[in-house]
Amino acid sequence: MKVHEYQAKAILSQYGVPTPEGFPAFSVKEALDAAKKLAGNAWVVKAQIHAGGRGKGGGVKLAKSMQEVEQIADSMLGMKLVTPQTGGEGRIVKRLLVEEGADIRAEYYAGLVVDRVSQRVVLIGSSEGGTEIEEVAKDAPERINRVTIDPGCGLTERDALDLAEKMGIPGHARKPASDIFMSLYRAFVEKDAMLLEVNPLILDGKGRLLALDAKFNFDDNALFRHPEITALRDLDEEDPAEIEASRFGLSYISLDGDIGCLVNGAGLAMATMDIVKLYGASPANFLDVGGGASVEKVTEAFKLMLANPKVKVILVNIFGGIMKCDVIAEGVVAAARQVSLNVPLVVRLEGTNVELGKKILAESGLPIISANTMMDAARRAVEASRGC
Ligand code: GDP
Ligand code: MG
Repeated sequence: MKVHEYQAKAILSQYGVPTPEGFPAFSVKEALDAAKKLAGNAWVVKAQIHAGGRGKGGGVKLAKSMQEVEQIADSMLGMKLVTPQTGGEGRIVKRLLVEEGADIRAEYYAGLVVDRVSQRVVLIGSSEGGTEIEEVAKDAPERINRVTIDPGCGLTERDALDLAEKMGIPGHARKPASDIFMSLYRAFVEKDAMLLEVNPLILDGKGRLLALDAKFNFDDNALFRHPEITALRDLDEEDPAEIEASRFGLSYISLDGDIGCLVNGAGLAMATMDIVKLYGASPANFLDVGGGASVEKVTEAFKLMLANPKVKVILVNIFGGIMKCDVIAEGVVAAARQVSLNVPLVVRLEGTNVELGKKILAESGLPIISANTMMDAARRAVEASRGC
């Protein structure tokens, strides 16, 4: 789950990470009120969307007067913000963050991720803040410093200070930097995060370090123990199909292709997407209907896939282990009837009572293309998507 920058900063403040003073705003009036509460003579107005790279797309602007705050807030609210991370369709801006303008002297990068290879949390620090870290990794990999953190001891002050030095943070600011890194690590672990990025972490004119931007992604599987994080969810920023799917206990992720995939089990769903790719097409979605593929769930899954205009064919790939194939076949037939299916349907069943299952599909009178193996199913689905 993702949250907005202002929400991420509020969490970081609780952990003692210094952030600029600021307030969220949902209207021009609120933006003006926010600016009036802030000291100084420059304010920054920032679009709040769940994507980075806003600076490049015109979503981060500096205002030198109240009039400018008003003008910027007015043009930013409701605008379609396209950034390198939003894709061409962009996002509509509905919230702003108004902050006191920072006097930036240096921009650094600090981030924490779970590294699957070492199976540990890794702290990444770089002197190249403000730009995308992926670019730095490509163009100047020597400027990226990593600390692999032992979960038993946590991040040690020695490692944190060493990283600050390698990042080129001046001597007087290294102790505050190491305190920030340790706070970031604590926040990351305690909130069950998957990613925490401060880009840029800045040094200002008074020699203070501040988290000028913050990105916090949380592990959905741990949200049950963080109601305070779940409360921050902004459904406007999520894919409507994925929200609908979660209501029915379906794991659904929208993708760009044209083959709708309905599968039970995440591993089989991944393998199905791979084999569709192998045959030269692309899946329209990842969809795991789970172990108990009930008629209701299968029907909802069909509805979700058919609501996507890109879907040219549906590929059902189900292994009847705990569920028997005849029960699944009945579910698929009932669901296909209920949604008045208008695209070809390829079904591959395997497992207990598979012959009975295939008989039910064949006798349903529905134009179902029955396949025997996964390869056969993928090939037929790809052909059907091309009108062969
Ligand atoms: P992102 O583009 O979505 O990552 O948004 P950021 O919050 O990182 O802002 C992008 C860039 O805008 C930063 O790297 C800064 O260079 C600049 N910026 C952000 N806030 C301020 C500010 O208060 N004052 C000044 N001068 N620049 C800022
Ligand atoms: Mg940033």
